[in-house]
Amino acid sequence: MAGFEQAWQELAQIGGGGAGGYHRFAWTPVDLALRGWFQEQAARRGMAYELDRNGNQWAWWGVPGPGAVVTGSHLDSVPGGGAFDGPLGVVSAFLAVDELRERGVTPTRPLAVVNFADEEGARFGVACVGSRLLTGILAPDDARALRDGDEVSLAEAMRAAGADPSTLGRDEQALSRIGAFVELHIEQGRGLVDLNAPVGVASAIWPHGRWRCTFHGEANHAGTTRLADRHDPMLPFASTVLAARNVAERLGALATFGKVRIDPNGTNAIPSRVDAWLDGRAPDAETVRAMVDEITDAARTAATGHGVRVEVVPESTTPVVRFGDELRDRITTALGGAPALPTGAGHDAGILSASVPTAMLFVRNPTGVSHSPAEHATVEDCVTGVAALATVLEDLACE
Ligand SMILES: [Zn+2]
Repeated sequence: MAGFEQAWQELAQIGGGGAGGYHRFAWTPVDLALRGWFQEQAARRGMAYELDRNGNQWAWWGVPGPGAVVTGSHLDSVPGGGAFDGPLGVVSAFLAVDELRERGVTPTRPLAVVNFADEEGARFGVACVGSRLLTGILAPDDARALRDGDEVSLAEAMRAAGADPSTLGRDEQALSRIGAFVELHIEQGRGLVDLNAPVGVASAIWPHGRWRCTFHGEANHAGTTRLADRHDPMLPFASTVLAARNVAERLGALATFGKVRIDPNGTNAIPSRVDAWLDGRAPDAETVRAMVDEITDAARTAATGHGVRVEVVPESTTPVVRFGDELRDRITTALGGAPALPTGAGHDAGILSASVPTAMLFVRNPTGVSHSPAEHATVEDCVTGVAALATVLEDLACE
């Protein structure tokens, strides 16, 4: 317990915290401090440190090579993020190494702890950049050209942080060493609370996507335009938000409008245009499609009633991830029967699952809140998570 609290406190100092949450963005001075922390943790344990071609950090117990059992997560955060999303997996990974050593375990396969670069995509807009580059899902030129809110490119940001952007791209050598990847992560919902279990195993990541809905109306004076004469795009947008909620509820899916842009955005002006972004998620791709179709129909019907034109354009879609039965069954057995549960959130493990055997452990989150300072796990559950991870690593790395 004290070991966990001490390790946790060291990391908690970096990049904000408190009521405003963490601001830990890729390739900033805060990120460099987090990376320094990782390197220090590797050194303290006598683990060989390595930075791969895509900015991901590795710490090795044993000689790096094929068949390695790899665990870890990410250290970056969303704006105003919680303390646990990402860092819990990295801290737990190092503490699991300590626990294995205390148990007197010597792995027969190499074991590595990893910190994936820029998982949240908070600065450059694309999530899981480090794992997408490693697996070749993201093209190096596209990555280098990504820009942050100040028009700084990823390539420039990496150079400013002392990293080399010219080496980005699918890394066959790094990938071929991974025998299995297990990511421990705080649960981002209340599944384990309902199951009354501290630790669970991921079954799947729901397919999800983003759609831009644009409502074209007519700008006019808020004081002189009769209600009957208006083409106010805000009204069909409002109906669409309510429709999205109803459709999602009926289909057992999730729909969120979390971002909206209004032109001209004046208190005394009827807007000319509303751009709104729909985030849609469901257990399977058919349900996502059906939900977005219904929301689109509702938007069209509402828009017609107000003399407003609407367009719905997909911006990104991510297919379902089903973690392999074989690894999941083995982990579940090693843990003496932990519950399996799906999640609506994306992870590096989801990206890696297309290339290597991958699994995830979730630690209970009593509030179910994530991407917010309210995100939480008890010290007891975190310690249980470390022990579970150590048991899984022991089972996989000591054949
Ligand atoms: Zn995360």
